[in-house]
Amino acid sequence: MTQPLLPKIFKDRLTTTDELGHRVRVIPAKVQGRFQKAKDKIHFLLVGFFLALPWLTVHGAPALQLNVPQRRFFLLGHLFLPQDVPGLFFVVGSFALALVFVSAIWGRVWCGWACPQTVFIEGFFRRVERWVEGNHLQQRELDKQPWGAKKISLKSLKWALFILGSAAITHSFLALFMGGENVARMIIRPPSENPGSFAVVAVSTLIVLLDFGWFREQFCLIACPYGRFQSVMMDEQSVTIAYDSKRGEPRKILKPEAGAVQAATGDCINCVKCVRVCPTGIDIRNGFQMECIACTACIDVCDEVMEKIGKPKGLIRYASDAELRGEKQKFFRPRVVVYGALLILMFTGLGFRLASQQIFQTEILRAIDTPYQVVVNPDGRRMVINHFKVNWSNVSAYDASVEIVLPKRLQGDGFELIQAQKVFKVLSGQGERNQFFLKFPVEFLQSHSAKVQLEDRWQTNEGEHANKAEVTVVGPDQHI
Ligand code: SF4
Ligand code: SF4
Repeated sequence: MTQPLLPKIFKDRLTTTDELGHRVRVIPAKVQGRFQKAKDKIHFLLVGFFLALPWLTVHGAPALQLNVPQRRFFLLGHLFLPQDVPGLFFVVGSFALALVFVSAIWGRVWCGWACPQTVFIEGFFRRVERWVEGNHLQQRELDKQPWGAKKISLKSLKWALFILGSAAITHSFLALFMGGENVARMIIRPPSENPGSFAVVAVSTLIVLLDFGWFREQFCLIACPYGRFQSVMMDEQSVTIAYDSKRGEPRKILKPEAGAVQAATGDCINCVKCVRVCPTGIDIRNGFQMECIACTACIDVCDEVMEKIGKPKGLIRYASDAELRGEKQKFFRPRVVVYGALLILMFTGLGFRLASQQIFQTEILRAIDTPYQVVVNPDGRRMVINHFKVNWSNVSAYDASVEIVLPKRLQGDGFELIQAQKVFKVLSGQGERNQFFLKFPVEFLQSHSAKVQLEDRWQTNEGEHANKAEVTVVGPDQHI
């Protein structure tokens, strides 16, 4: 069933269900206007951005990746591991607080302008639908027609294009979780070689297809957690899409038995164009509603109407409740200040965490066996040998090779590093172990111990990093 062209009742049920609770399909009319033009451009860019995002890199590392199988999270080229609780706290906290802060000021602006749900539906699925089936009236007409050759071919073409679009989105989406290279490898291999991955892609494509192609606004109205929380984040000073009821008499909540459309009053001519363009099927004249995703379509269409009838634009506009009541619009208010302060704290914490993190970590421990051995070189020089173990952790976004080396000033002074393997490969997000013996002349010891500065050199595609690693060597007391 499709949505009736004229709204009848309000608040006795969801706008997208009928009396029996069946889904009412919303087919919004296409609208032109300044916000829609801006949104079309932004959505076009965002469709490209979201599809390309898993393959974007920063200094050779993924710009964004939540690699679940390998338990690694990349943000702007930085690697966060599951055990990095502070880092993940600051990342998640910054994102959540940014959303809360923006919502407190501009309401659900994220939903209407940048949410992938809106971006893909408006930027691809609705465009395909209009291209194949025509405008909203033609689509309604087609829906009413009995199944015949024309209807079957148009619907088949539309859903075929939807499947292609869903498959492209799914691959990009999965690449965010599995890494672009893994997904590319999956694409070029036949499904028989990779049945598990193929099943994941197929099921994910089906979910994306059903969401963007079928459920659409239902996801925003029923499933989206952000939509459920929005009223907690906002207050009467938050700017939302609002109908100026002072210019058009406030609509009364019509009882179901009233049945009829309310008569036109004030500047509003009751053309219901604002309802026909609404992707969630609501009538914004009934006041702010949780279902409004701030898409601005009703602003543009109403401005068009106002222009035609010679009234000032802005009967529906971005406005706060307070402003509509004639009160002064306040930007700084306790909620905005608190959210803003917390957001600054989160960003500061994240910045500090990124700046201070040692991404190549080396831990050198004394081996728990004989503390030292004394040997005599063929030239008669007495030498001491100490045994050490090394733990390397690579928390950078790059694979690296690492080796422990003696600083130049100790080389040729009788010092020697004895190890079975010199260079080790340490993959990004992983660790490696080694052990070595350090041989040095007994006269190096001041008493029975001394400090030795070693270096560990990390080599990645992005360059070389050298850490200083100090160890304490022990041997026979020189004063005895
Ligand atoms: S588009 Fe404007 S004039 Fe037409 S019904 Fe909506 S608010 Fe009234
Ligand atoms: S009420 Fe207006 S801004 Fe809100 S979803 Fe409907 S058309 Fe978009």
